[in-house]
Amino acid sequence: MRTSQFFLSTLKEAPNEAELPSHKLMLRAGLIKKLGSGLYTWMPLGLRVLRKVEAIVREEMNKAGALELTMPAIQPAELWQESGRWAVFGPQMLKMKDRHDRDFCFGPTHEEVITDIARTEIKSYKQLPLNFYQVQTKFRDEIRPRFGVIRAREFVMKDAYSFDADVAGMAESYRKMHQAYTQVFTRLGLQFRAVKADSGAIGGDASQEFHVLAESGEDALAYCPDSDFAANVEAAEAMAPAAPRAAASEAMRDVDTPKQTTCEAVAELLGIPLQRTVKLIALMANEHLHILLLRGDHSLNEVKVGKLDGLADFRFASEEEIRAFFNCPPGFLGPVGIDRSKVRLIADRTVAAMSDFVVGANKPKFHTAGVNWGRDLPEADLVADIRNVVAGDPSPDGRGVLEICRGIEVGHIFQLGTKYSTALGCNYLDSEGQLKPMEMGCYGIGVSRIVGAAIEQSYDDKGIRFSTAMAPFAVVIVPVGYQRSEAVKAAADALYAELAGRGVEVLMDDRNERPGVMFADMELIGIPHRITIGDKSLADGKVEYVSRQAGTTELVAQADVIGFLL
Ligand code: ATP
Ligand code: MG
Ligand code: MG
Ligand code: MG
Repeated sequence: MRTSQFFLSTLKEAPNEAELPSHKLMLRAGLIKKLGSGLYTWMPLGLRVLRKVEAIVREEMNKAGALELTMPAIQPAELWQESGRWAVFGPQMLKMKDRHDRDFCFGPTHEEVITDIARTEIKSYKQLPLNFYQVQTKFRDEIRPRFGVIRAREFVMKDAYSFDADVAGMAESYRKMHQAYTQVFTRLGLQFRAVKADSGAIGGDASQEFHVLAESGEDALAYCPDSDFAANVEAAEAMAPAAPRAAASEAMRDVDTPKQTTCEAVAELLGIPLQRTVKLIALMANEHLHILLLRGDHSLNEVKVGKLDGLADFRFASEEEIRAFFNCPPGFLGPVGIDRSKVRLIADRTVAAMSDFVVGANKPKFHTAGVNWGRDLPEADLVADIRNVVAGDPSPDGRGVLEICRGIEVGHIFQLGTKYSTALGCNYLDSEGQLKPMEMGCYGIGVSRIVGAAIEQSYDDKGIRFSTAMAPFAVVIVPVGYQRSEAVKAAADALYAELAGRGVEVLMDDRNERPGVMFADMELIGIPHRITIGDKSLADGKVEYVSRQAGTTELVAQADVIGFLL
């Protein structure tokens, strides 16, 4: 590809709203262009990167025996009503009606659709196991889209679904996906960690997340350097010894249920199951919302959610909105059975940030003004409860102590069991002619998120440093004086033809720009290998090679350059 025939649109400065380096760089390099909140166009340069990721994901899925298909992005409500998720999925689901007033959603995930396919297509144990996957656009109406493609509303996911005759088969399908994911992230050149995730009612090792390690990651991970224990903090907390929880329950002494942990107390106050409360709190932590206080002296539309950075207040117009915000079923926040003066949902995992909050929050006009922290909830115990797992805690496997790091979730694998097959009647006939529900697994990769996460791990002050596996082009040729020097033009054209002929993805920067401009652009967009061809070195039969990753420069004999690059 020649730049004169391609489309580059680099920027000197990133728009203000971009917070993370990866987001800034993706905009500056012209990989993506924003259309609206959480909506991005993949420009030609960015699409090349996205396709690289997709290709590796496809190769590894195919190798693992999964079969590609493509399901509709728009899904009828009936299927979701059958599984029971239409009512409970919450505001992340974008719902719509067609001209006949029938309900649809833009699929946030595809368990229902694939289970519908399996229940009508798979009849016998002889057809099992099967694993179907797609690489497709999902829509989730995220409460706060941010970080560009890392938390978008429309994004590309690879989602796979396995069907097995029994639990052992499901475990094997899951193991294969674990292996495939490990391969994908290794090939992409990412530093990553697979961690145990909260697997809810299913328990055991039934769910793991794959995280790209990055300080800016939204998720906190606990791991033990002396063993292979690794879990996201929610899962680690669920396995933590009970001692800190007992201390925390003391902190809840003004709540009617002094012997319970915060979660249990809140669950009781809300009249919703504990599991759901834990999720609610996790959701708040996930969204970086730190404290919600519903107090009797506020009317409902004054319910406020404190956020550490700046203690922003969120105002809700109606009870409906609050319910939607917290993904709660009708009844939650209803007038009956809830003592609003006592509801406190606390979700934060950062001890330091928490104490800042306690100091800052009692300023006049902030929502916690008037709350007596010493009486209501002693600071130290509060901290103990919200973060049961801290660095230095014993690892649940007893083989060392825990460290905490941060990550960006790029993959999630899950043993579902018969949750969906039972709800949707997805059965097969076993060898004895018995009808049995299929054992399912589901496996997601955030294909578009990976691009942002990878950049978050690899950039410098000049721009992106793509691994060869993800780079939009492997090599760029920068001829200095392409339009003016016959010798430079001839050498550049010959090298370009040779590399292209060998299947190397090569970009020739044939713009009539100053060398500094061309170098800066090529560094910004992160091309791993650069060959500069100029009259001076050509006179000695040499060209200049620069490695974007290593930052090294060397002169290479013109005759050896192909061998050197390949
Ligand atoms: P998160 O915790 O980041 O909200 P999730 O747990 O809701 O993600 P899953 O339902 O597990 O996401 O979906 C599978 C994968 O899809 C995730 O591991 C992630 O890589 C990706 N993904 C989820 N939400 C988004 C989003 N809003 N933008 C980009 N990628 C996403
Ligand atoms: Mg999510
Ligand atoms: Mg998650
Ligand atoms: Mg997940």
